[in-house]
Amino acid sequence: MRHTRQVPNEAKKRRRAEPPAPQPYVQPELPDAHPRQSAFSYEVGTRLPGRHGRTGVIHTPHGDVKTPAFIVVGTKATVKALTPEQVAATGAQAMLANAYHLYLQPGHDLLDAAGGLGRFTNWQGPTYTDSGGFQVMSLGSGFKKVIDMNTVDSSGPDDAVAPGKERLANVDDDGVWFKSHINGDKHRFTPEVSMQVQHGIGADVMFAFDELTTLHNSRGYQEEALERTRRWAERCIQEHFRLTDEREGKDYQALFGVIQGAQFEDLRRKACQDLAAMPFDGFGLGGALEKENLGTIVGWCAEELPEDKPRHLLGISEPDDLFWAIENGADTFDCVSPTRVARNSAFYTDHGRFNLSGRRYKTDFTPLQEGCDCYSCLNYTRAYIHHLFKADELLSHTLISIHNIRFTVRLVDRAREAIEDGTFFELKDRVLADYYAGAGDPQGRD
Ligand SMILES: [Zn+2]
Repeated sequence: MRHTRQVPNEAKKRRRAEPPAPQPYVQPELPDAHPRQSAFSYEVGTRLPGRHGRTGVIHTPHGDVKTPAFIVVGTKATVKALTPEQVAATGAQAMLANAYHLYLQPGHDLLDAAGGLGRFTNWQGPTYTDSGGFQVMSLGSGFKKVIDMNTVDSSGPDDAVAPGKERLANVDDDGVWFKSHINGDKHRFTPEVSMQVQHGIGADVMFAFDELTTLHNSRGYQEEALERTRRWAERCIQEHFRLTDEREGKDYQALFGVIQGAQFEDLRRKACQDLAAMPFDGFGLGGALEKENLGTIVGWCAEELPEDKPRHLLGISEPDDLFWAIENGADTFDCVSPTRVARNSAFYTDHGRFNLSGRRYKTDFTPLQEGCDCYSCLNYTRAYIHHLFKADELLSHTLISIHNIRFTVRLVDRAREAIEDGTFFELKDRVLADYYAGAGDPQGRD
């Protein structure tokens, strides 16, 4: 069944708004593998002694990704304020777009007609799409960061929804109803719809549709959500294999299962075991992670997941998070922060994050960071970019974004080289000591 985005009349809208009748779950028989899966693979390189960290190479139909690697985010099929050529010049190896945003605008069918995400955007390298689950379920809380689906209760207030916001999404066993953040139209995402949308977008790596929970959900709710995510993972694989057969002339698109389970060790391990038994090409580590136990959780997952499949950690870019994640076995990461903070004039340096809007930069004729090899630092001064920002000139977004992406990409590249050279722990200690030595300024923080 094809999912349609248009709602032609009011009667149909009302009918579609009814939640589907619950149906008993039938455990599907999954095949061991798909014959076209060999088009995507991961090769382990050097291992970090005593830890799960490693270097490696991900092979995709649109080129290789040397890991660990920072994957740059182009949510709506663009890395904000940069051309794909400028992104490539930062050394970024792959781009991640968002299925939810592209489904709403311009529509996955349009990207399919254009020849897929890479061709549409002129990005020559490998591409990823996030399943859209995170964005859809974040709507559940009216864009508040913390969501809690089981607080929906007709008898009382929904305290998970940010003040003044309307709940825009609701989860049931079959999928999620949500309202478009653009025009309020009602839509439904199921595992099958997410696969159809992501096949249409055509990225090299896709993620299975999962339910996002938070650290605030009860243990009981985490268990329920995890079981739902497991069943959705099975349905994603079935639909993915069906579409892979149907779209024979297209490049193979890899599918990663997403590991949830919040902060609970037994749930994370169970999720890994459940999903490792399915024919996924790799895994995404999802859900809310507290900074303090990020490395520990990544480590649990690395112990359970197969060695020969890549692991992607969704949504991190702070230097300490990157080192902890790499050390404990995450191979790739993505995050909007380097470009998002750039638009608020924050820039990264080896000595912390600073904000270029400060008066002291008005006459500072040095680059954003001395010694940085990025286009912005080779050609422009802090004083000039400070002026651009103050004058609301868009070029400030471009120049700071180039620097922040280059900074993050280079940090991860250095970590990769250090694993190969046997100097990872020295690098980590040195980089983190310099970065968090109390420098940086408060305005530079989020
Ligand atoms: Zn720079």
